[in-house]
Formats: sequence, structure tokens, C-alpha cells
Amino acid sequence: MLDEVEYAELSAVLVACLESIQLERKARGVALERIDVRAHHEPARRLHEELTGVAIVDAGELRHHRDSLLGPDCGRCGRALRSPSARSCAECGAEFPGTTESAASPESQS
Ligand SMILES: [Zn+2]
Repeated sequence: MLDEVEYAELSAVLVACLESIQLERKARGVALERIDVRAHHEPARRLHEELTGVAIVDAGELRHHRDSLLGPDCGRCGRALRSPSARSCAECGAEFPGTTESAASPESQS
């Protein structure tokens, strides 16, 4: 998983990858299907591997490896919930009804 600083770095590289794909499409006048998308994502893939030690092949997957996409740790098993608004734990099945609503701040007097 990437922290926000690492993700920002990876995100910038991913944008550059998409731009290089668009440039090649424009230059060659071909459809996306004719482009070696994986080759264009190589810099992002390499950076991800440098930062995490984990090799990822699918470019779309690179975009999901970000800490802030996860929720708080499960009160039962301690694993991070799948999203900040998750109401149950995908690991152990523990349920957290009203996680998002009850987290709302109480009304303050002014
Ligand atoms: Zn759990």
C-alpha cells in the first residue's frame, strides 16, 4: 500500500503514461486497441515496485493501491476495512452498523 505522498508520485507518473498513450495514438492515428498500453505503463509499474516491493502487471490495479482507500482497522480481527465507509469486515465478517452515520459530529451550540 502507498501513503498519500507515494500515491501522489505514482499518480503523476500514471498521468504521464496516459499522455504518452494519447500522443502515440495521435501520431499514428490508431485506435487504443492497437497501442501497447502495458508498455506505456512500464514507468508506473516500475515505480510501484520500487515503492512497495510488489510487482503489479495490471495498470488499473496500480490505481487502487492507496492507503486512504481503506477504512479503519476492524475491531475484531485488526485488518483494515475495505473502504472508509465499510459496514462489515471482509476478513472476519464483523459488522459495524451505522459506522458512517454515527460518526457524524454532534450539533454544536453557537
Ligand atoms: Zn475483521
